[in-house]
Amino acid sequence: MRDDLQLLIISSPSGAGKTTLTRRLLSAFPDFIFSVSHTTRAPRKGETDGSDYHFVAREEFVRLRDEGAFLEWAEVHGNLYGTSLAELDRARSLGKRGILFDIDYQGARQIKAKLPSVTAVFILPPSLRELERRLRSRGSDDDDETIARRLAKAKAEIEHYGFFDYVVVNDDLDRATADLHGIVRAERCRRTQRALEAEALLRE
Ligand code: ADP
Ligand code: 5GP
Repeated sequence: MRDDLQLLIISSPSGAGKTTLTRRLLSAFPDFIFSVSHTTRAPRKGETDGSDYHFVAREEFVRLRDEGAFLEWAEVHGNLYGTSLAELDRARSLGKRGILFDIDYQGARQIKAKLPSVTAVFILPPSLRELERRLRSRGSDDDDETIARRLAKAKAEIEHYGFFDYVVVNDDLDRATADLHGIVRAERCRRTQRALEAEALLRE
């Protein structure tokens, strides 16, 4: 079992392309697992309990939180979200090389404080105008008010970009994908990630 699990956080305002980029990353790096968060929000159409999220009642979330089950947790849009410590064990027991957290900046900050080796990536849309276009083109039946709220929220999230290690601008999807994959590969070449290989050579 490797103990040098690569920890990768991806955050972005809604509509910037995080889901698209995350899917591409997980298919290019099958040795990564997606960290399945707990949430108190209701499942959306097409979401599956246990693979998109662990959907739990607020009381259950609070109980788990008070038991110390979460690596981080935060309130986002009035719902509670948290990453359970069990996700790290799941990645390790599956023999995975890395784990990908799709969480907001509040969670990113908490994980960074506990596990400083984590890499935090923020995805930016090329402009607010394009962000609005993408939010509208997602095909959901969001009304103008919801879109306006998401755009205002996007600005509030972007204010925290300075906390992240890397910022990827998702203008051209293939280029943004290449940037993100390049970050993962570069991080894998860090000395701390190569300790197993180096130590094995020294023992030969
Ligand atoms: P998020 O998960 O950040 O909310 P999505 O991945 O669902 O965002 O993307 C929002 C919309 O924008 C989707 O319709 C997606 O196909 C589209 N999209 C994502 N990246 C790009 C891009 N680089 N250029 C154009 N459209 C994009
Ligand atoms: P959604 O409800 O649209 O799936 O997610 C809303 C926001 O919550 C997104 O910014 C997402 O990254 C964030 N989020 C999802 N899971 C977690 C989590 O476990 N912890 C934190 N802090 N944020 C999360």
